Amino acid sequence: MDFGQTERSRELLERLRTFIATEVTPLEQRIRAARSETPEQRRDVAAADLWSVSPEYRELQRKARDQGLWNLFLPDAELGAGLTNVEYAPLAEEMGRSPFASAVFNCDAPDTGNMEVLYHYGSEAQKQKWLRPLLDGEIRSAFCMTEPGVASSDATNMAATAVVDGDEVVLNGRKWWSTGIGHPDCRILIFMGLTDPDAHRYRRHSMVLVPIDTPGVEVERMLSTMGFYDEPGGHGEVSFTDVRLPLDAVIAGPGRGFEIAQGRLGPGRIHHCMRLVGLAEHALELACRRGLERTAFGKRLIDLGGNRERIADARIAINQLRLLVLNAAWLLDTQGLAGARSAVSEIKVAAPRVAQQVVDFAIQIHGGAGMSGDFPLAGAWTAARALRLADGPDEVHQGLVARFELAKYTEAVK
Ligand SMILES: Cc1cc2nc3c(=O)[nH]c(=O)nc-3n(C[C@H](O)[C@H](O)[C@H](O)COP(=O)(O)OP(=O)(O)OC[C@H]3O[C@@H](n4cnc5c(N)ncnc54)[C@H](O)[C@@H]3O)c2cc1C
Repeated sequence: MDFGQTERSRELLERLRTFIATEVTPLEQRIRAARSETPEQRRDVAAADLWSVSPEYRELQRKARDQGLWNLFLPDAELGAGLTNVEYAPLAEEMGRSPFASAVFNCDAPDTGNMEVLYHYGSEAQKQKWLRPLLDGEIRSAFCMTEPGVASSDATNMAATAVVDGDEVVLNGRKWWSTGIGHPDCRILIFMGLTDPDAHRYRRHSMVLVPIDTPGVEVERMLSTMGFYDEPGGHGEVSFTDVRLPLDAVIAGPGRGFEIAQGRLGPGRIHHCMRLVGLAEHALELACRRGLERTAFGKRLIDLGGNRERIADARIAINQLRLLVLNAAWLLDTQGLAGARSAVSEIKVAAPRVAQQVVDFAIQIHGGAGMSGDFPLAGAWTAARALRLADGPDEVHQGLVARFELAKYTEAVK
């Protein structure tokens, strides 16, 4: 294992850290304060300012791009920063400390996963039309796989259809949890649909590029995650009714949907986990500061009950998690997804658990303030909790880890 950082990644980390501290954090604080000052806007989820992007934010993106802090996730040196996953890990961790940061650097989900799909599987024309503007941050995207009608932890279950009709493909069905679909810049959707029910179960589905303004596409409602709308991108339920597109909208040709879904989730999942290390770090920092500055019963909060042990346990858990994430990153770099499948599932289970536990402690030591919008903790807890489902529930990943483990001892285990 080699988790060593290069001079370039260290230098990028230093600049990223400064940029977040001097530019992103102050804006985040201003946005948080403005929201808590206008509770009527918080209640009205359709309020334009929740689902819009401020000029200040766009200016920040422009500055980040000018400084070369842009598309850091993409291993391609021409289109992205050309970093390995091991090099990207500390940068993503730094971004994970703030819910706003990764989008400033064009490194946010679901766009990173969608850009990787286009990068690896897209035709030249698809890349030109959709990858280029995504890389430039001019547009954003959503990934429409999960359906309300079927258990979507099993990707082969998807029942929405993508039927080839001559030189067109016709889409019908209902998707939900389409993250990012509420963003004002969302222009392109990646839709997974059933093309050939008689084919091998891994060759039945296709992925189709759907411009959001295509007739028949309807965003029916925005879903909340435990009361949070995660605006301005949010998560939508969307119906597709006789949506007709030219056949060249199918990514890599009909029947490749399952394969693309599997490929997309390697880097996408690992980026989420890298950010969760940062989220847990930030929560621990807030817990320590709060515990040191307040007193109750004549003692600092940190000296009450088992709080010191909890801090030690959090530090140990975060350090373990970081090494586990770096291990998965190194395996992805050196052996590709085939050699990293168990490792990616291991961190997919471990990272949200650790983050959820650390944030929970931080909420507790903040008392009532921890549950309020004055601190980022309630949102952070919800984000960590959601990631025990998003990109596949814990149990599916545990099943995969167990399968790899047992396969060491018997060929019969599949
Ligand atoms: C915040 C958030 C964002 C999301 N973003 C997106 C997105 O952008 N695009 C998208 O397509 N989807 C997205 N999802 C959906 C997510 O990927 C699915 O919710 C997830 O894959 C589970 O599918 P399901 O909800 O249909 O649960 P089901 O498949 O119905 O599973 C329910 C439960 O059954 C149990 N279970 C399932 N399989 C197994 C098993 N093999 N072993 C043991 N127990 C099992 C688990 O406890 C599981 O949680 C998002 C979800 C959330 C919460």
